[in-house]
Amino acid sequence: MALWILIWLALASAVAAYANERGRSAVGWLFFSIFFSPILGFVIVAATPNLKAEAEDRARDQSRSKTCPQCAETVKQAAKVCRHCGYQFPTGPATSGSGASESTEG
Ligand SMILES: [Zn+2]
Repeated sequence: MALWILIWLALASAVAAYANERGRSAVGWLFFSIFFSPILGFVIVAATPNLKAEAEDRARDQSRSKTCPQCAETVKQAAKVCRHCGYQFPTGPATSGSGASESTEG
């Protein structure tokens, strides 16, 4: 029955690769699948949230948002006013350096 062991190990390594794809421990799920069941391991990995996708989502959210300096809440990048505390974000081009100010009056 060596064939069954090979199939078992092949399934377990497939679960490990699948777990790794989802941002989880490949080695941990490999051993879990070997000792318990590759099918059970696969079901659990599939049922748990995809950590990698979640991390990517969060990174994407952060790149499209900014933190309010007044209340530290996260607001959209395009927001002009903080929806939490009403803080007004400085608008216009944020170019640092010597800008020619054309305020010649009086
Ligand atoms: Zn705020």
